[in-house]
Amino acid sequence: MSAPKKPEVVIIGRPNVGKSTLFNRLVGKKLALVDDQPGVTRDRRMGDAVIAGLHFTIVDTAGWEDEDELSLPGRMRKQTEASLAGADAAIFVIDARAGLTPLDEEIARYLREQEVPVVVVANKAEGKAGESGAMEAYALGLGEPLAMSAEHGEGIADLFGGLWPIIGAKAEEWEEAQDAARAEVEAMDEEDRPSGPLKLAIVGRPNAGKSTLINRLLGEDRLLTGPEAGITRDSIAIDWEWTDPKTGETREIRLIDTAGMRKKRNVTEKLEKLSVADARRAVDFAEVVVLLLDATQGLEHQDLKIASLVLEEGRALMIAINKWDVAEDASKLFNGIRGALDEGLAQVRGLPLLAVSAKTGKGLDQMLGAAFELRDSWSKRVPTSALNRWFDDALEANPPPAPGGKRIKLRYITQASTRPPRFVIFGSRLDLLPKSYERYLVNGIRAKLGFDAVPVRVTLKSPK
Ligand code: GDP
Ligand code: GDP
Repeated sequence: MSAPKKPEVVIIGRPNVGKSTLFNRLVGKKLALVDDQPGVTRDRRMGDAVIAGLHFTIVDTAGWEDEDELSLPGRMRKQTEASLAGADAAIFVIDARAGLTPLDEEIARYLREQEVPVVVVANKAEGKAGESGAMEAYALGLGEPLAMSAEHGEGIADLFGGLWPIIGAKAEEWEEAQDAARAEVEAMDEEDRPSGPLKLAIVGRPNAGKSTLINRLLGEDRLLTGPEAGITRDSIAIDWEWTDPKTGETREIRLIDTAGMRKKRNVTEKLEKLSVADARRAVDFAEVVVLLLDATQGLEHQDLKIASLVLEEGRALMIAINKWDVAEDASKLFNGIRGALDEGLAQVRGLPLLAVSAKTGKGLDQMLGAAFELRDSWSKRVPTSALNRWFDDALEANPPPAPGGKRIKLRYITQASTRPPRFVIFGSRLDLLPKSYERYLVNGIRAKLGFDAVPVRVTLKSPK
C-alpha cells in the first residue's frame, strides 16, 4: 500500500486577481513575485500550505496568464489541465473589485466541465468594496463565492470552511500517516539522553512578538512582523545553530513557530479553536516550549490556557516576558507574573521565568541556555537506587494512611520513562490512596529529585 498523499489544491484565475498573493498568504513565504503588471507569474509553483491545521499542497498556475485573448490558447489550456489532473480541489480566484470579465466566464465554463471540486474566491473584498463583486460571482455557477482579501488576510477562515469538506478527510489521513512515522522515530530514541537538535517552539498570543523574536534569533528577516495580529504563517520548522556565549559551545536548535492562538480579530471563533489545535500540533513536535508574554499586556487567562495545554501534553515549559525594553514598573510586573503562574498552574511550581526583549536581544542567550537545561531535566533518568532511597525516606517521614485500620502498602517506585518523566509506584489497596498523598509524593519527586519545572506523571499499580 502506498503512503497517503497530501491533498493538492490548484489556484486558478485570470491575471492580476491576486493568485500569487493568495499563494504567498497560504504558504507564508515571500516566494512569488507580486506585481501590478498582469502576467508577472511565470512558473507553476508549489508550496506547503496550512490553514488552522489543514495541510495541503498548493499550486499556483501560470496557465491562463500569458495571453490577453479571451479564448484560451491550447498550450496554456494543456498546462492547466495538467495541474488540474492531480488536484483534489481548485480555488478559482476572481477580482471582486473589478467584477466579472469575459475571461472569468471562459474559465468558469471550462471548470464546470471538469471533475475537480471548485471553490470560488472573490478576492480584494476587504472593507465593503468587494461585496457586490462577490455577489456577482454567484452567476459563475460554481457555488457560493467566498469573499476574501488575500492581501489583508481576511476570509481565511471561510476558505478553510470551503476546503475542509473537500480535502479534510484526505488531509487527516495524510497527517495520521505522518504522526505514525513520527511516533516510530520517537519510540526508538525514547530511552536516550537528549541528543540532536533542541526542538523548541515559541507560542503565545498574537502580537506577543514571536516573529520578531524568531527573526532576532536567526539574525535574518525571515518572518514578517507587524502590528497586525496573526501575520505569521501557521507552523514551520527552522534548523539553525546557536553558540552559547557562556561555554563557547555550538548547539543545534530546531525552531517550531506557531501563529499563536489568535484571539478574535477578523477571525471567527471556529478558526480560533482550530488554531489552538494547530498550536497543539506544533507543541507535539517540541521538547521545550517557550510561552511568550507581552510585558505591556501582562498575563491573561488565554496565556494560562496555553500553558496548561503545553503541560498537559507533557512538554517542558518556560515563560519569557517579552518587550522588557518598554516594561513599566519591571520588578512589580515580574513578581506579579511569578505569583499568578504559581497560582494558576498548580501542577508545576517554579517554571523558568525570564525577561527578554526580542527588539534589543536582551536575555535571549539566557533563554536558550535555560531551554537546554530544561530539556536535560525533562529527559533525566533517576537511578533506581536513588529513587527508592528517596521513596523510603518519604514514606517514613509521612506514612500512607490506614483506612479502616489497614495500612495502604506502597512497595517500590520505578521511573518508567523520560521526556516527560513518568513514574510508577507499586503497592496494594491503591484505590484508597488519597489524592493529597499522591500529590505529596509528586511534589517530593519534583523538589528532591531535580524535576522542579517539568511536568511529572505518576501512576499507581497493583502487581497481579
Ligand atoms: P496574480 O497575477 O493573480 O498572481 O495577482 P497578484 O497576486 O500578482 O496580485 C495582483 C495585484 O493585486 C497586486 O498589486 C496585489 O497587491 C493586488 N492584490 C492582491 N490581493 C489583493 C487584495 O486582497 N486586495 C487588494 N486591494 N489588492 C490585492
Ligand atoms: P507576533 O504576532 O506574536 O509574531 O508578534 P510580532 O513579532 O509581529 O510583534 C508584534 C509587535 O510587537 C510588533 O510591532 C513588534 O515590533 C513589537 N515587538 C516585538 N518584540 C518587541 C520587543 O522586544 N520590544 C518592543 N518594544 N516591541 C516589540
